[in-house]
This record gives sequence, C-alpha cells and structure tokens, in this order.
Amino acid sequence: MSRSFDDDNIVLPSDQDSSGRTLGADEVDAVRRAIESGTLTSTKGSFTKSLESRFAETVGSREAWACSSGTAAVHTAVAAIDPEPGDEIITTPITDMGALTPIVYQGAIPVFADVDPRMCNVTAETVRARLSPRTRAIIVTHLFGNPCEMAEIVDVAREHGVPVIEDCAQAFLATSGGKQVGAIGKVGCFSLQQGKHITTGEGGLVTSDDEDLSRRMFLFINKAWGYGDEKPDHYFLALNYRMSELQGAVGLSQLDKLADVVRQRVRMADRLTERISGLDGIETPWVAPGNTHVYWKYCLRVDASRLPGGSPELGRRLKERGIASAPRYIQKPAFECEVFRDQRTFGSSRWPFSEARAEALDYSPERFPGSYEALEGILVLPWNERYAEEHVDYIATALESAVSEGR
Ligand SMILES: *Cc1c(COP(=O)(O)O)cnc(C)c1O
Repeated sequence: MSRSFDDDNIVLPSDQDSSGRTLGADEVDAVRRAIESGTLTSTKGSFTKSLESRFAETVGSREAWACSSGTAAVHTAVAAIDPEPGDEIITTPITDMGALTPIVYQGAIPVFADVDPRMCNVTAETVRARLSPRTRAIIVTHLFGNPCEMAEIVDVAREHGVPVIEDCAQAFLATSGGKQVGAIGKVGCFSLQQGKHITTGEGGLVTSDDEDLSRRMFLFINKAWGYGDEKPDHYFLALNYRMSELQGAVGLSQLDKLADVVRQRVRMADRLTERISGLDGIETPWVAPGNTHVYWKYCLRVDASRLPGGSPELGRRLKERGIASAPRYIQKPAFECEVFRDQRTFGSSRWPFSEARAEALDYSPERFPGSYEALEGILVLPWNERYAEEHVDYIATALESAVSEGR
C-alpha cells in the first residue's frame, strides 16, 4: 500500500496536555471540594488520606503514603532502609535520575548492575554480580511498564538478607509471577508526574507490607514528627515531602480511572504488536514469562544489521511521517552523567563516593554489555491512554513505510 503522509498527517495525543490525559470534570469537582473545605494540608484534610488507603488497596499492600514526587518516594524508601554512610545499593543504569540521586542524598553508594537488553531491566544474575558485604538494598526499575523477573530477584535478595525496593513509577498495575508490582518487594515507589499513567502534575506514593518500614516512611515524609504519639518529637533527620490536598483530590479522581487507562494502553499496544511483528529488522517488546506489561511507553528494538542506520535512522524516518520517538531513551547509562562521573555532591568532598570501594565505582563499558546494547538498539514510542485504533494504525503504517524505505 502506498500512502502519502504529507496529505493526511494525524496528530497523536500527547501526555503533556489534555489530548493524552484523562483529566476532566471529576478532577475539577474534587479540587473545588478541597478548596471549599478550606483545608489544603494533608495533615488535616481527607483527600490525601483517602488516596493513600485506596492506593494501598489497589496495589494490595498493607500501607501506602503519598508524597511530593516519585523522587521523594524513592528517597523515602531509601531513608526507611536507613543505610550506613558508604553502604551500597544495587540499582540500574537505565532509569530516571529521580531513582538514583536519593541514594546519594542518603549517604549510600549506587552500584550499577547491567541489564538484560531484551527488556532493559536488571536480572537476578546481573544483581548477583554486584553483591558485596556492603550491599544494603536492591532497587529495581520496571522500565517502560515491563516488569523485572521478580521471583528470581527476590530470591537473590533473600539469600543475601537485603530488601528489594521496586521503582514502579512507570508500571502501575503491572504484574510479575501473578503478583502486582509494588507489593512484591519490601517497598514500592510510584510517581504521579505529568507523564505517568495517572497524574497530579507532581506527586508520588510509597507502598509496603512491613510495619516498621511503613512507620519510618510516614515519619520521613513528615519531618520525622511523631504525629499522634504521646510525647511527639522530631525523631531523626527528615524532610517535608508531603502531598497537598489539591494533589490528593486530583489523585483520588485519577485513581478511579487507572484500570481503564491501563486496559486501553495494553489493548492498543497489543494491536501495534500484531500489526508490526512481521517487520524485518524490528523487534516488538519482549515480556518475561508470567509477567504483564502496562505500556508506559512502547519500546521497539531495531537491528542495525538489517536496517542501515539502526534506531536513530528509523527515528528520523518516523519524524518525517509526523511521529516523535526517542532513539536510546536516555542518551547514555546514568553512570556517565556528570553527577556520577565527576562525583559532584556536597561541596568539593565527593562524599559519599569518597567512602566507596573502587570496584563499586568501576563503570568500565565491558562491565555493562547489556546496557550499551540496549541503549544502542531501542526506539521508544510515546504512548498514552488516548491512543485509539486510528492512531495505532497510523503508527503501524508509518513504521511499515519507514522500514521499507530504509532498506
Ligand atoms: C518518573 C520517574 C521517577 C521520578 O519521579 P518524579 O515524580 O519525576 O520525581 C523515578 N523513577 C522512574 C522509573 C521514573 O519513571
């Protein structure tokens, strides 16, 4: 089929504005009620508290606490673990920076594990290769909404006696081995930033089944002030990471829509997979057996030996057809960013990196073959719950034509 893309360009919905979001009358009404109540702090209001209890129920965890961002959620999780300065936390080099800097703020050393290039996630094997006597926790990111193989990772963590923190910012309602992410490890972290499955503009949530960790997370979000205690005090070093009632109100309305948001994203992603799975040089998303993907983004792998120019060239051809994409996702593994490479932390101290074992800071490329292979080949397509069949068919047709032109 030949088709001119100049004549009938479709504008795809965007998660950066109302075209690709589910924000509407419900959220307006909830915010109006929050404002009319006159109580905008979540320490006194009811919206954020309801969001917390309903979110815990949704994830299947005992507790959930709201906070100000996904970054704050990860910081809260790390602070609850309470590492000693210089302790190591194993993590991934392909994630959002907000999953990494909290480790350093809490005085711990991020130790990067390699990823499986098929899904860009760490595995039990790559995590095991970075374990040391100083390992204090493992943080996994379920990248693009595609979960890690959790059963094996939890086994490694258990053998070593350390907790797993799940970064679920991109993976609301995803499952691994029949269990929902955020309820598999000791702590789950979520983001409600503009571009996530559901949003309050900025915002975050943490989940846990563990009573002690939950208590510490509640306190960390609240300047460690012992609300409700007989003799409250500020018990330890902590920040104000609270969510406001305005966000709580929006979040509560958004949560009602989450199941439909995920269903639509998955249905449309499956449609695209069906349309393009025969295309030479293109690999559709690989999902580990027993896991379900919730498609925060739709990530293709491009085989440069079959499609000259690989992912960047295919991205250019899609752009000519009105479709934005991100070759490589993040441009480089996180450890190549200046903050880690040059250890720019507190004054000129380089702390806590100054306390680290040399091996923990060894970012030699040969230790990360999967990560470089992954970034080299991926092409990330934006995705949201407003994608309908016509949008998906447009993308599929554009991909077919871009691929055939490319060879
Ligand atoms: C978005 C995101 C974060 C950070 O969340 P913010 O709300 O932007 O602070 C952390 N981890 C992952 C995997 C993310 O996608």
